[in-house]
Amino acid sequence: MDESAALVAELSREGLAELHTHLGGSVDPAVMWTIAHEQGIALPVKDYWDFVELVTVDPRGVKGLPELDAIYKWTELIQSSPLAVERSVHGAIGGAYRTQTITTLELRFNPMKRNRGGEQDLDHIIMAASRGLDKARLEYPKVRAGLILMMDRTFTHEQNAVIVEKAIRYSDRGIVGVDIAGPRPDGGRYPYRQLAPLVETARAAGLGVTIHVGEEGGRHGIEEIGEVVEHLRPERIGHGILAAQDEETMRVLRETETVLEICPSSNLLTGALADEGELKETVRAFADRGVAFTIATDGPEMMQTHLRDELALLLRIGALGRDEAEAVNARGHSAAFVRPRG
Ligand SMILES: [Zn+2]
Repeated sequence: MDESAALVAELSREGLAELHTHLGGSVDPAVMWTIAHEQGIALPVKDYWDFVELVTVDPRGVKGLPELDAIYKWTELIQSSPLAVERSVHGAIGGAYRTQTITTLELRFNPMKRNRGGEQDLDHIIMAASRGLDKARLEYPKVRAGLILMMDRTFTHEQNAVIVEKAIRYSDRGIVGVDIAGPRPDGGRYPYRQLAPLVETARAAGLGVTIHVGEEGGRHGIEEIGEVVEHLRPERIGHGILAAQDEETMRVLRETETVLEICPSSNLLTGALADEGELKETVRAFADRGVAFTIATDGPEMMQTHLRDELALLLRIGALGRDEAEAVNARGHSAAFVRPRG
């Protein structure tokens, strides 16, 4: 074991925290394969290893977010039933604890991308996720886990309003927050400020708010971070790495104590970060300016990396020192929306 891996192993003894992982990318392909067969889903491949290729990102990376979205289409289709969602949530939480000793975990998913365009009842899908969560909580009492419901940038305002309404309705059943992701319409700027009333409603009901922004998009992406912080005031931001290129944006993030959820390998695989050098520069910029952040995988199975690998990578390339890695993990526990288990 090299030095960085040994340090991570030491950290893991206390329990790790992962706050940014998508359900569609968090379930072991072997489990997904079985679920797909049980549901009789027509897959374009007949062999298991071809299936693994279908639902994971090539280690050489993808051409960008649209290609990643095409992979999600398959995992979302397979997870599109109450039974599949229950198994997936249960499998993802158990797997995270067994392989990574993750004791604080938040899983995010869009229920409306799992109801076959309305054929399946949304409440059934969400309650199935909640059952999967309950089962995992019984099996792994040291784990505190919560679910984040995601709105989508391709959805209408009405559709996103339904997601928020459901998140509030099921907040006593393990839903701890809301998020938005998905491809931008026409690849242009997304009018984040229009979400303000929905986000306010969610916050007033006691839900946490995290927003995917500033992962890519150059100058527009940086401006979008500013817009999100000003108008949506999320506690956390998914990615936000473009802020490292702009002192003013970093100042705002520091002053508002917004926590970035940084997913290093995911950013390298999608090309959002060019290489390990750029990753190091980005992480150092935040660390040196006091911008708070946590580390996550975005989806360990799809990205074929795990939280320990991510921390080891940052230690190995000198993006984080030992004490900083410890602080980043502690922040993961403290910035979670899910409350400690009582
Ligand atoms: Zn994400």
